[in-house]
Amino acid sequence: MVAKGFTVDLNKPLVFQVGHLGEDYEEWVHQPIVSKEGPRFFESDFWEFLTRTVWWAIPVIWLPVVVWFISMSVKMGHTVPDIVFHSGLRHICVTLMEYSYIVSFSYQTKSYWGNTMHYLLHGCHHKHPMDGLRLVFPPAATAVLLVPFWNLIKLLATPSTAPALFGGGLLGYVMYDCTHYYLHHGQPKKEVAKSLKKYHLNHHFRIQNMGFGITSSFWDRVFGTLPPQGKDVKAR
Ligand SMILES: [Zn+2]
Ligand SMILES: [Zn+2]
Repeated sequence: MVAKGFTVDLNKPLVFQVGHLGEDYEEWVHQPIVSKEGPRFFESDFWEFLTRTVWWAIPVIWLPVVVWFISMSVKMGHTVPDIVFHSGLRHICVTLMEYSYIVSFSYQTKSYWGNTMHYLLHGCHHKHPMDGLRLVFPPAATAVLLVPFWNLIKLLATPSTAPALFGGGLLGYVMYDCTHYYLHHGQPKKEVAKSLKKYHLNHHFRIQNMGFGITSSFWDRVFGTLPPQGKDVKAR
């Protein structure tokens, strides 16, 4: 229940409503609605369309881009073992990015646009965690974010390693997004996957400001955000 007057009408497009919640947004967004049916985000059909993404669009769209960038490095003289060798280091960077990305959304917002941005980037997934079309990152938004990312890598790496680093980073993102989808909608049989699922459901339904890792709990251990043992939520 929202105390200070404003109530979100779940039957109307949500995105431009949540800003009005002010300080109450934090509490509202962490009261999940666990139905597979998602809310409407925008009045406009065009923007609404851009917010709905099937999970398999992520590998279908981005894996060819990954291959293209890595092959660019290969053409410029890097051998495949050489690229695989660097992937260990890159994996550490990508998982750290995954971790800091999710941590950044644990900060409380209360301004109109702060709430709106938080809702679009992360909050919507907390409010409707089982909305299968609002789980992976919309490719149109990813494409926009990749431009500064590519420029940054070009600045930091040599011309022949930059494409492999970029391709590898993108591959890490694809793995992250698909894993996240699987943790919500898959029925893991293996112990590792089962415990990752439980770990992430804890982040949703028990302690939202801990357990940020998706593909591993490594950085949670490093930064001390590992949730305390016991009282796990049941895997759904
Ligand atoms: Zn979260
Ligand atoms: Zn999730």
